[in-house]
Amino acid sequence: MSKTVIPLRELRGSLRIPAANTAQAAGPLADTRARALHDLRISVTDRCNFRCTYCMPRDVFDADYEFLPHAEILTFEEIVRMARIFHGHGTRKIRLTGGEPLLRRNIDRLVAMLREALPGVDLTLTTNGSALKAQAKALRAAGLDRITVSLDSLDETTFRAMNDADFPVARVLEGIDAAADAGLAPIKVNMVVKRGVNDHQVVDMARHFRGSGHIVRYIEFMDVGSTNGWRMDDVIPSAEIVRRIAAQFPLVPADANYPGEVAGRWRYVDGGGEIGVISSVTEAFCSTCTRARLSTDGHLYTCLFAQRGYDLKTMLRSGAGDAAISEAVAGIWQGRGDRYSEIRTAETARSRKVEMSFIGG
Ligand code: SAM
Repeated sequence: MSKTVIPLRELRGSLRIPAANTAQAAGPLADTRARALHDLRISVTDRCNFRCTYCMPRDVFDADYEFLPHAEILTFEEIVRMARIFHGHGTRKIRLTGGEPLLRRNIDRLVAMLREALPGVDLTLTTNGSALKAQAKALRAAGLDRITVSLDSLDETTFRAMNDADFPVARVLEGIDAAADAGLAPIKVNMVVKRGVNDHQVVDMARHFRGSGHIVRYIEFMDVGSTNGWRMDDVIPSAEIVRRIAAQFPLVPADANYPGEVAGRWRYVDGGGEIGVISSVTEAFCSTCTRARLSTDGHLYTCLFAQRGYDLKTMLRSGAGDAAISEAVAGIWQGRGDRYSEIRTAETARSRKVEMSFIGG
């Protein structure tokens, strides 16, 4: 039986690392569209205990699926070394992700190592919340600043069908409570909205989290990877989401917290807090994208929709010094011209792209 599996090894076929413009590398790094290298997302595992239908569909990520062997996964020491190098290029925000980052053993130790190495960096993590109740305190004690929890529905049947692991809503809500108690605030709650699947939950999610201090962020269903059967018809534009919520709870637009913030912010008029909308499909924000992604096996991707990355792990493991790796990162970033969401078509949506679980959401 043929499946639509794209072997990661093929997609990982590495790009040649361009030479850095060293004159320019001495100052703050800028890509070909003058975007800085402000954020780094680090995927600490390609495994997840959920099989969200839009991310790791079970018919592809099944018992036969070959996840990365342990030896190919960056060690904590290698991750910290890379983080320091990126910090040297102006990176000030680091998000740990995956796969499911809380499945990585002793993840709090990595948080502590990053915190010690880079005391001023904004350190955060995205999780499905399944193990958060047990780990929230340790993560906070290790120095994590904030957390984002994914939750696509409050309706039990819908949520269990979407995570395809029969995981209950209540356990994620307990995780969110534990994170709040531990001081990992403000908590962001990510909801990927898919037409006809969970869009009936848009207003319910707003109602539930209003007044809690947590910020629901509605994400347009995206054509990441090549396995989730993306169709434009399944996307609910953020404008429609805002309209639906505002009809119940009036909203006004709020200013971005900083240039390049992913989510558009909307504030409840009655003071009930705010929501965010992430409109990668209908309102591309490539022009302000300052994010790089380090895959579980140490490849650098300059776009969420990339087809290939740059192999930095080989450099790390073949004795290259920090200066050489730093120069490689500079060359890659200076050559970056990605603007996938601006040029998306039905054709590009079908192209072979790296899976999100591999390079991190
Ligand atoms: N396992 C963690 C989690 O569930 O949050 C971290 C990894 S997950 C890939 C990161 C984020 O990407 C989640 O909020 C998830 O909902 C989102 N995501 C995954 N596939 C997506 C897609 N096709 N469109 C939009 N968002 C997606």
